[in-house]
Parts: sequence; C-alpha cells; structure tokens
Amino acid sequence: MQDDVSKLNIEFYKSFDLSKYCTWRSGCLADYIFYPKNSYDLNKLISFKKNFYMVGNGSNTLFLNLNDTILISTKKMNSIEFDGEYVTVECGASLNVVMNKCLDKGLLGFEFSTGIPGTIGGALITNAGANGGEISDILKSVFLIKNGKEIEVGKEEIEFKYRSSSIKRNEIITKAKFLLQKGDPDRARMQIKEYLKYRNNTQPVRWPSAGSVFKNPLPNYAGYIIENLGLKGLSVGDAQVSNIHSNYIINKNNASPENILSLINAVKDKVFTETGIILENEVRIIDEK
Ligand SMILES: Cc1cc2nc3c(=O)[nH]c(=O)nc-3n(C[C@H](O)[C@H](O)[C@H](O)COP(=O)(O)OP(=O)(O)OC[C@H]3O[C@@H](n4cnc5c(N)ncnc54)[C@H](O)[C@@H]3O)c2cc1C
Repeated sequence: MQDDVSKLNIEFYKSFDLSKYCTWRSGCLADYIFYPKNSYDLNKLISFKKNFYMVGNGSNTLFLNLNDTILISTKKMNSIEFDGEYVTVECGASLNVVMNKCLDKGLLGFEFSTGIPGTIGGALITNAGANGGEISDILKSVFLIKNGKEIEVGKEEIEFKYRSSSIKRNEIITKAKFLLQKGDPDRARMQIKEYLKYRNNTQPVRWPSAGSVFKNPLPNYAGYIIENLGLKGLSVGDAQVSNIHSNYIINKNNASPENILSLINAVKDKVFTETGIILENEVRIIDEK
C-alpha cells in the first residue's frame, strides 16, 4: 500500500496511535490515517480504498480494532463560508470554532452546541444536541459523497432522531449548509457562559471521556438509572463510571479500549438484570475484525 498511497499526494501517517487522537485517550493503532484537504481528495481516497472509516474529533467513538481499515480524518477540511444568514461549513470544522465565527458575524443558532467537542460531520451523524437544541434544528442541507459523486441533500430527505440520523456509513459528508438568525452576540455569549458553568458543575470535564456513553431510555435518564443502582465509581482497570455524572465513563490514566468496553457491558448487564431496561450505546464502538 505504501507506494500506492504516496501517489495520492494526501497527507498520511502510518501506525498511528489513536489514544493521541480520540477524546477517551484510549484506542488501537491505525495502520494508516489520512488527512484530505478537500472533497476532491476525499473522493479520490475513498475510490482508491474501500475499507475506510471516517473520524472527526473522535469524541463519540471507541476504537478497539481496525484491522486493515484505514482511517480518514476530516480535521483538515474546515472552511467556513458566509452568505447572508446562511453558513456553509466543511465537515471537519469544530462546532466551537463555527459557533464563535458565527457570533462574530452576529449570527445565532449554534449556541446549543456549547461544550460539545465534535466536528460538523460527527455532529450530523449523531444529531448532536445539548441545552435544548440539536444540530438538525438549524440545518438546511448536507453535501454527501455517494457512489463517487458529491450531491446536495435537503434536510427534509434525512431522518434525524435523538442522537441519530439516517445518513449511512457509505454516505460521506463533505460539508453542510445552515440557516442562522441575526441576533445579539453579547447576550448569546452570556448564555454560553451559563451553559459552560452548568457543564463544569455537572460533568467530569477534567477527565478524558466520550461524553454520555448511553442514550437516555426516555422518559428515563441513563445517568439516574446507573446512579440509583450504586454503580458510580465502578471500574475495570483505569476505566471508571464517573462519580460526577454516571452516564460518563472516564479514563483515569491508562484505560485500554477493552477496559472501557468491559465496563460498558458490565453496566448494561447490571441495568438489564435489575430493571429490565436495555441501554443502547450512544458511543460508537469500532471493532473491525
Ligand atoms: C466531554 C464531552 C461532552 C460531550 N457532550 C455531548 C453533548 O452534550 N451532546 C452530544 O450530542 N454529544 C456530546 N458528546 C459526544 C460527541 O462530542 C458528539 O457526538 C460529537 O458530535 C461527535 O463529533 P466527532 O467529530 O467527535 O465525531 P466522531 O466521534 O469522530 O465520529 C462520530 C461518527 O460520525 C462519523 N463521521 C464523522 N465525520 C464524518 C463525515 N464527514 N462523514 C461521514 N461520517 C462521519 C464517524 O465515522 C462516526 O461514526 C460529548 C463528548 C465529550 C467528550
């Protein structure tokens, strides 16, 4: 593969340690990670190598095993273009950067995403949300590479639900268009401060994690169920159910992806045995054997 990949002229690294990339600070080795700079390179890459997995900021993903699947990072695809109240953003732009650039232009709408450490692409796949909003609320359309062609798909053609979207694994997001509203950025920034204060008080923000591990089995909350069963502090190796927020699993130092997975399964088993509730993962577990 070495010779072939050099010909593509796209930045890549071999034997890449994912513990340096993902927010859980735990993960396997990727044989190759590529950093395309634009949708043309991205399309070239995915037509060259069929076994690939997209990664934004790796803040919702546990990588256990990639086998010969290559990783494609979107982090170098991060341009932002404004057109009146519309903003078109490439898939690898971070939510926080987009929110702040929009506020600089007096455009409101991304404040819900305060504190979500993801990229636009990852946020659309997971329909990321917080503070009473979700990314699909402000979405107009998504640009996808599908069967080798880049197409624009209107929001109404995609089904967004709580922490999921109908975008398939072979549909690669290159960019997305959002419709925002003109408003007072100073007031919005005050609101953002409140959101951050709440997050800092209620979530283990100092420890590596992937945010909420399980979807809330609404109207119940996964965190309450886990806490009520006395599972706060439960550990496997250095992976621990957070004492601050029970739907978070933190990496106390050197947790392996297998430690984290064992703990996820132990929590699910206990919750099912005690309550009959089947917890569904919010995090994505990649185990390509
Ligand atoms: C401290 C902390 C707090 C968090 N708080 C929240 C919260 O409040 N609300 C919330 O919803 N989430 C939260 N999360 C989870 C996470 O940040 C979000 O789900 C985020 O949107 C994921 O973005 P990402 O770029 O890191 O995605 P990744 O983990 O990199 O990827 C997620 C999925 O998207 C796919 N993907 C990524 N880019 C593309 C692309 N361009 N095309 C196709 N597929 C793609 C990946 O293959 C993967 O399946 C939190 C995480 C942490 C660590």
